[in-house]
Amino acid sequence: MVKVETDREGRICIDALLAQLQTLRQRNIKPMAIVGIAGSTETGAIDPLNILADIAEQAQCHFHVDAAWGGASLMSERYRHLFAGIERADTVTIDAHKQLYVPMGSGMVLFRQPTLTNTIAQHANYIVRKGSKDLGRHTLEGSRSAMSLMLHSNLYLLGRRGLARLIEAGIEKARQFADLIHQQEDFELISEPQLCLLTYRYVPPKVLQALQESSAPVRQPQHEWLNALNQDIQTAQWRAGTSFVSRTCLKPVQWDRQPTTVLRVVLANPLTTLEILGNMLEEQRQLARQSPFWQTLQAWAVIS
Ligand SMILES: *Cc1c(COP(=O)(O)O)cnc(C)c1O
Repeated sequence: MVKVETDREGRICIDALLAQLQTLRQRNIKPMAIVGIAGSTETGAIDPLNILADIAEQAQCHFHVDAAWGGASLMSERYRHLFAGIERADTVTIDAHKQLYVPMGSGMVLFRQPTLTNTIAQHANYIVRKGSKDLGRHTLEGSRSAMSLMLHSNLYLLGRRGLARLIEAGIEKARQFADLIHQQEDFELISEPQLCLLTYRYVPPKVLQALQESSAPVRQPQHEWLNALNQDIQTAQWRAGTSFVSRTCLKPVQWDRQPTTVLRVVLANPLTTLEILGNMLEEQRQLARQSPFWQTLQAWAVIS
């Protein structure tokens, strides 16, 4: 597996991909597949799928799209254009347990050419004999529960339009929340929402200003304190139990790819209002002041 660099928006860098393919060609290695991400788990970033499809075609290799997290957004007529090119994939992963609102364990792979699965078919003498239609012929698990029933039920109850409305509400609320974060002088949006997901962090304004004015090597310890501060906020918020955000570590281009602890929010619940989100920022602001790293950062910002 060859990892390829991503840009400021978290999308694959096409130049870097072409350079990797060139290197592989020189080493006489034929790539088996090119994998595009349609909605990354951490930031919801969507790769330029049409360009990847062109490149896969030229390289004569399999084109897989990992839409495990983002694929459900295809339900929306309004936003499916973001996935342009996905229809050219040979295989696509979609997890129903992400944004199709069913419990865990409902992962799917869609095949353009269903007979491709025959290359990994397995048989036994007592079950799934050659020519049988038993389940488990093409999966690691043999006997499986009827997970598809949950997806079927959800499609039956909510329907494509119902799911589209949930997804559209999430995407639009993520944009409003991003605007709200931009308006705060002590919060920094780290990844702009491409779907219903965004990341941000708490940065006291004086600290942000001092960071922007100092050189990269000087910034190092302050970044680590900021990481610790945001980790404290997330843990304290989880303990308080009124609201919850998840946490991850990104390497944002705007911060010289330094590991940056961020708060991660997925707007999936249709009952979450902008007012609730505003209150949550206020709660995080209060929790920040209780962290020992808040004092440390304040002291540093005054000195510098
Ligand atoms: C969730 C996810 C997967 C698959 O993980 P599972 O634990 O099997 O559901 C793959 N790719 C992406 C981008 C995901 O978000």
